[in-house]
Amino acid sequence: MKTRFRRAVIKVGSNVLAGKDGMLDEAVMSGIADQIASLRKAGMEVILVSSGAVASGKSIVKCGRKLDQVSSRQLFSSVGQARLINIYCRLFDSHGIVCGQVLTTKESLSTRDHYLNQQNCMTVMLENGVIPVINENDTISVTELMFTDNDELSGMVASMMDADCLIILSNVDGIYDGRPSDPGTEVIKEIRRGDNVASFIGTEKSSFGRGGMLTKYRIASKVADEGIEVVIANGKKPGILADILLENGQEVCCTRFLPAGKPISHIKKWIAHSDGFAKGNIHVNAGALAALTGEKASSLLPVGVTAVDGDFEKGDIVRIIAPDGTAVGIGKVSADSIRARESIGLKGRRPLIHYDYLYID
Ligand code: GLU
Repeated sequence: MKTRFRRAVIKVGSNVLAGKDGMLDEAVMSGIADQIASLRKAGMEVILVSSGAVASGKSIVKCGRKLDQVSSRQLFSSVGQARLINIYCRLFDSHGIVCGQVLTTKESLSTRDHYLNQQNCMTVMLENGVIPVINENDTISVTELMFTDNDELSGMVASMMDADCLIILSNVDGIYDGRPSDPGTEVIKEIRRGDNVASFIGTEKSSFGRGGMLTKYRIASKVADEGIEVVIANGKKPGILADILLENGQEVCCTRFLPAGKPISHIKKWIAHSDGFAKGNIHVNAGALAALTGEKASSLLPVGVTAVDGDFEKGDIVRIIAPDGTAVGIGKVSADSIRARESIGLKGRRPLIHYDYLYID
């Protein structure tokens, strides 16, 4: 058996792992562990991002009084995560595979040092044949610095760990070209850079998890732009991972995001996923916008800046805002906000963001 990829990040959503009552479906989990075991046998490195903690905890703890959103997430995830990782340990043990738990927060990826530390942890696990089983640490990550959902987390992990592919398993076959319930609606098989299918996608949320198809689509497009193939597929289908990831796999109904031909650098990958940590905004004029979004790599120069919002230090992450107010990119700034303001509109100055540290959406 030959695998199509060297290293895969596989994200499994709560709707795949939990039954109707929210209890973890061990038969489904066992099927996923079996498939991962055969992928490993075929030589592939696998990183698992698994949801299901909150759904599982909810099905176990019956609380007497109504809890607020934060407390209930903390309570349910503390119980459910213990259950979840226990089942994975048992299942992987039966294949002679060691797995390890990584609970992370968005904050743990907020600076380059934090990011490298997290990357080191997963690297040393893989080097020693341990499967990282990752989830957000829902007991401590609340509101502001929370991942939108585990799709966002899995995108960050795929990018950080230099994976060749990201598989997002949900309880539907992929992205449909209309409302899935309408007759004649079909799954979109391939999405290329520039295809805009967002208008087809409903805004319904997952019944157990926090995500939905729209965030899956946004994350998948971004990760594919970084040169990583992304597949959204139905995790309830037996054998789905082998079919997608093995060379002799059968053709399955799923949505594939074709990777950009030219992968981006590590530092740009980190910047691309740092939107939530931006400390300020740099507004640019039409000329700068055209240069930044053009074919040739361009740095952001003070002459093209019209305004600077926020207080930031040299080296912080800032957003780049087009004249119409939309955010068009993100970058690591080479001056603090005071100096950046002083240089607005000036010619012949050093770049405020060098193109090596710039990511345009
Ligand atoms: N971390 C959450 C859990 O394990 C899932 C978040 C999501 O829905 O993506 O329950």
